[in-house]
Amino acid sequence: MSHTDVFTNEPFTDFSKDENRQKQLDAIKLVESELGKEIPMLIDGKEVWTEGKFNSVNPANYNEVIGVFQNGDASHADQAIEAAYKKFQTWQHTSAEERAGYAFKVADIMRRRRFEINAWMILEAGKSWAEADGDTAEAIDFMDFYGREAIRYSGPQPVTPVSGEENQLFYIPLGVAAAIPPWNFPCAILAGMAAAAWVTGNTVVLKPAEQTPRVGWVYMDILKEAGLPEGVVNFVTGPGPVVGGRMVEHHLTRLISFTGSREVGLQIYEKAAKTPPGQIWMKRVIAEMGGKDAIMVHEDANLDEAVQGVLASAFGFQGQKCSACSRAIVHESLYDEFVEKIAEAAKPLTQGDPRELENYMGPVVDDEAFEKVESYLKIGNEEGRLVAGGEADRSKGYFIRPTVFADIRPDHRLAQEEIFGPVLAVIKSKSWDDGMEIVNGTPYGLTGAVYTASEENQKRAIRDFHVGNLYVNRKCTGALVGAHPFGGFNMSGTDSKAGGRDYLLLFLQAKLASVKI
Ligand code: NAD
Repeated sequence: MSHTDVFTNEPFTDFSKDENRQKQLDAIKLVESELGKEIPMLIDGKEVWTEGKFNSVNPANYNEVIGVFQNGDASHADQAIEAAYKKFQTWQHTSAEERAGYAFKVADIMRRRRFEINAWMILEAGKSWAEADGDTAEAIDFMDFYGREAIRYSGPQPVTPVSGEENQLFYIPLGVAAAIPPWNFPCAILAGMAAAAWVTGNTVVLKPAEQTPRVGWVYMDILKEAGLPEGVVNFVTGPGPVVGGRMVEHHLTRLISFTGSREVGLQIYEKAAKTPPGQIWMKRVIAEMGGKDAIMVHEDANLDEAVQGVLASAFGFQGQKCSACSRAIVHESLYDEFVEKIAEAAKPLTQGDPRELENYMGPVVDDEAFEKVESYLKIGNEEGRLVAGGEADRSKGYFIRPTVFADIRPDHRLAQEEIFGPVLAVIKSKSWDDGMEIVNGTPYGLTGAVYTASEENQKRAIRDFHVGNLYVNRKCTGALVGAHPFGGFNMSGTDSKAGGRDYLLLFLQAKLASVKI
């Protein structure tokens, strides 16, 4: 594909085809043969090893070590930022076409290595085949989309003509970007946030989440294969507060691109506001954070469709998507029937080792996530009525059954706090206005959906449902690059709209040159 083609979304793999199933099984085998390998950090193209190590493990079987990683510290963050700063002096002057060319190459390599990338996510993040494949497809989309966008932004921008002057406004990169992704889209978000920075001429220090560094290393390997010059993206591993913390503080960091929890996002936002000695700019922060996403089911909804939409949004990838539905707000006229149907639909969902295609759900990502979700199962039992799930089993991996609590009140903790697991709170509403008040009654505003047949209501929802991404009569997960630019309001973040036409502007600054003629 050349960049002159119109952008289209990468199709998902059809695993009902024997051929594709076989390819995925082969890739899982290949990846299994590489488990437990030690992976370095990469600074200025050089491998860096430390004495201390940490393991990444398979959450479906925590005795299986996925990889051994370097336990970097603040000094490694310093080295990486200094290397990136040095590289920026030349990289910033490369043409947008050249940089976009690398993005298109990366997309092509990802297409070729798709099943392998999927396999790493199946084993390291506990994604089902379909979820892993969707993650890889999104990463490919980001490369293709941002490549085109970088070219679009590289030309002179319109300014008002003034006689006797030649004026031009154009965009230049910012400098060193600290890229701090989460584990839940270990390929798409990591690759997307890093690429948005380098394709616009910034250089990058990338620190993958501690749970999924191996997927991050696949991305580094792909960048190498694509021929991206050394030092443009530097890879450091280690504890978030130590390595990531230093990346945020460093006086040569110009831009921070973070996706993760509200707690860490707010800390970063505050820290980044400081101007340590030697820092001659104010850092820019892009922070995409948590959610308490709701689906509102009105009295005129198609109930069966609503149940299916809530089910997929609440339990796909074990509810560990920032866009996952964790609240179903249901009109009283449908409430009892909805509760019965969602409970019946949740109970038979298949769950187990995601290596097996038939498992719709896998484990939650680690022991911390398991304990957190388990604590909310207790709270749910106190606050509401358990109608499905509630079982948690960590004998081998971190498995929690899809759980539904009915009769949750809007002020309950289950209705207010992000759990980030397969736990759905069902809340009764008395009317449209009551439902909308509940919907908007949390500090978050990431995604949401409404099920209603009436066009009038749909318009009201579009106006009043205060979220970055609103869906009508469909699930609230599964945003597509280009089609559904993604990002939330309020405590869900800076509404950066990843995968949208405004996104790359966040990685650029505008310069005006006026020449007297
Ligand atoms: P997290 O905040 O624990 O970690 C995110 C990243 O920050 C990791 O790389 C981690 O190592 C790093 N980090 C941790 N402490 C740090 C510190 N003090 N300084 C600098 N970096 C630090 O989040 P997580 O558990 O990886 O991800 C789950 C969260 O991400 C959920 O809240 C979810 O809603 C959110 N999320 C949001 C979006 C979105 O687009 N809004 C997308 C995906 C995930």
